[in-house]
Amino acid sequence: MGILLALPLVLAWPDAGRLVGASAWLHEAGRLAGVLGLSMMVVAALLSARIPVIERWFGGLPRLWWLHRGIGYAAFILIMLHVLLLAFAALDVSLDAAIATLFPPLSALAIWAGWVAWALLLIAIWPTLGATAQINYQRWKGLHLLAAGALLLALAHGLWLAPQDALWWLLGALGVAAIGWRKLLSPLVARRLHEVTAVERIATDVVEISLQPLQGRMRYEAGQFVYLAPLDPAISAGYGEEHPYTIASAPGDDLVRIGIKDLGDASHALQDVSLGSKAWLEGPYGDLLKPLDPSRRQLWIGGGIGITPFVSGARARARRGVAGMTHAHLFYLADRPERAYYLDMIAGIANDTVELDVTVHYFSELGPVTAAFLQEHCEDCAAREAFICGPPAMIAHVRKVLEAIGIPRHRIHAEVFDFL
Ligand SMILES: Cc1cc2nc3c(=O)[nH]c(=O)nc-3n(C[C@H](O)[C@H](O)[C@H](O)COP(=O)(O)OP(=O)(O)OC[C@H]3O[C@@H](n4cnc5c(N)ncnc54)[C@H](O)[C@@H]3O)c2cc1C
Repeated sequence: MGILLALPLVLAWPDAGRLVGASAWLHEAGRLAGVLGLSMMVVAALLSARIPVIERWFGGLPRLWWLHRGIGYAAFILIMLHVLLLAFAALDVSLDAAIATLFPPLSALAIWAGWVAWALLLIAIWPTLGATAQINYQRWKGLHLLAAGALLLALAHGLWLAPQDALWWLLGALGVAAIGWRKLLSPLVARRLHEVTAVERIATDVVEISLQPLQGRMRYEAGQFVYLAPLDPAISAGYGEEHPYTIASAPGDDLVRIGIKDLGDASHALQDVSLGSKAWLEGPYGDLLKPLDPSRRQLWIGGGIGITPFVSGARARARRGVAGMTHAHLFYLADRPERAYYLDMIAGIANDTVELDVTVHYFSELGPVTAAFLQEHCEDCAAREAFICGPPAMIAHVRKVLEAIGIPRHRIHAEVFDFL
């Protein structure tokens, strides 16, 4: 990825002879900002293409998405700089020239393609700037299609202005390949059809769906997730829409099991999904429970529906026995007993398995979890490798507590259920 950012700059680097006077410097700086901004848009598209090899390099899709987001913001700022620097450079000629640089006649289609690309990018990133109230998952995904449109228009802008430049063709090919992989190939390669064979109510607002693979079994590890797209014509919302869900079954189980909490339209509709209906599962992605040191004992901290990766981990211990698995101590942070989904099942496994212990902490009784609470129930917790999953506020709090206990940052892994 570094090469993809450095190479365009090297190829587009101006001759020293062209850098005469402040206006020429501003112009070249503006041009380079545009080249770098567009390269970053291509890198952001490649990072969001769900290419398994790239995902593994970066340690899982959630981490990749944070990077994708940061690079997307940087691209937006650089493209803004590109426009402003070019306009400032033209001020050397006259104010009219600067205005004409920014807003040329409508016939200057290449420039207007650049402007529309920038506007589409602004609309796409707007909700992530916290400027709007909470957004629905599908609307957020729709906005990302605008970002793909922005990338294509920005590439057209570059190719239009410098068609002889190999750089634009290289970036264009990579950008189109990223969008093509994500929209056309990845669903074909990584998606498998499943049939809903059971729907079990776990709590008033949570069901566990069991899915039978119809196109070969998916290989996955505890802690990974899939994109699930239900194909049940009877559901009230979300037909064919993909949403990320953690796999709650043990690796190697015949059925893929997924615990779904009613949080919005699509997850509400899935509470009543029909037996025998079909669904696409794409994945697996992520690697929340992949340890740095497989021999080190583990500390699992799950909050609310963020318990699902640990349900898979607990079931894996029950299924495989303890051979090759290190001890895990699970702290289940639930608001109150009715919200402690799967607790009886996990406690049953912990009773039968020496390699799993579970401690429940109810927020409504005890308030936020403390270092003293963790150390009282798990004496060697500071020496363990920690894994956290839950809502953002819980993760931020638990991270601080774990660092206060003395667990170094590199031994703390976290997954927030976010827009991916
Ligand atoms: C890696 C990962 C694993 C997940 N695993 C599970 C799981 O095992 N079980 C489970 O019940 N949920 C899980 N989620 C969350 C799940 O994807 C969302 O609950 C679901 O997409 C909501 O869709 P909706 O249409 O019902 O809600 P919407 O109507 O789109 O939104 C309703 C509310 O939920 C929030 N929301 C929407 N999508 C997400 C999302 N992807 N992440 C967080 N908040 C969201 C919105 O901001 C809004 O407040 C996971 C999310 C991620 C990223």
